[in-house]
Amino acid sequence: MVVLDRQNTPMTVDFQTSLYFHPEGDGVLIGMSDREDPPGYGTDVNWDFLEKMFEQAARRAPALAGAGMKTAWAGLYEVTPDHQAILGPVPELEGFWCAAGFSGHGFMQAPAAARLLSQLLLDHQSEIDISPFAFARFAKGALVHERNVI
Ligand SMILES: Cc1cc2nc3c(=O)[nH]c(=O)nc-3n(C[C@H](O)[C@H](O)[C@H](O)COP(=O)(O)OP(=O)(O)OC[C@H]3O[C@@H](n4cnc5c(N)ncnc54)[C@H](O)[C@@H]3O)c2cc1C
Repeated sequence: MVVLDRQNTPMTVDFQTSLYFHPEGDGVLIGMSDREDPPGYGTDVNWDFLEKMFEQAARRAPALAGAGMKTAWAGLYEVTPDHQAILGPVPELEGFWCAAGFSGHGFMQAPAAARLLSQLLLDHQSEIDISPFAFARFAKGALVHERNVI
C-alpha cells in the first residue's frame, strides 16, 4: 500500500485536469473544477463529479486511492474571459472602482491588489502598472490570458 507523506506533500496541481490537493488539518484537501458545469450560482455538491475527481486523484497520487471522505462542499468561481482580475476605476461609472473577477486566484492576489489599488487611489500611481487589468480591456480585445487555471 502506498502511503501519502502528508507533512512533506506540497500543494500539488495537475493543470491538465485541474485536480489539486494539499494537507489540510489531519487529512488532505482534494479539489477539481468541473469544466462541463455551465455558468450559474449553484453550490450543491455534485456527488457524481466527486467520483470523477477521485479517479483523477488516484491516477495522479496512488496513495489517495481508496481514501475516505470526511466532508465535501462546492464553491463559486468568479471567472473573467481571460481568467484575470478586473482592477481599477471603471470610467463609465464615475467613482466606481473594481477589484473582482479573480478567477480562482483571489486569496493569493488580494494583498497585492489591495496595495496597488490603494496606491492608485491615494497617490494616483501604483508601484506596478495595473492598467492591463482595467475593465476596458474587454472592449479593446486586449485580453491578458492566464493559462495556469484550476
Ligand atoms: C473551492 C475554491 C477554492 C479556491 N482556492 C483558492 C486558492 O487556493 N487560492 C486563491 O488565491 N484563491 C482561491 N479561490 C478563489 C478565491 O476564493 C476568490 O478568488 C476570492 O474569494 C474572491 O474574493 P472576492 O472578494 O473578489 O469575492 P467573494 O469572496 O466571492 O466575495 C463577494 C461577496 O459579495 C457578496 N455578494 C454577492 N452579490 C452581492 C449583492 N448583490 N449584494 C451584496 N453582497 C453580494 C457575496 O456573498 C460575497 O460575500 C478558491 C475559490 C473556490 C471556490
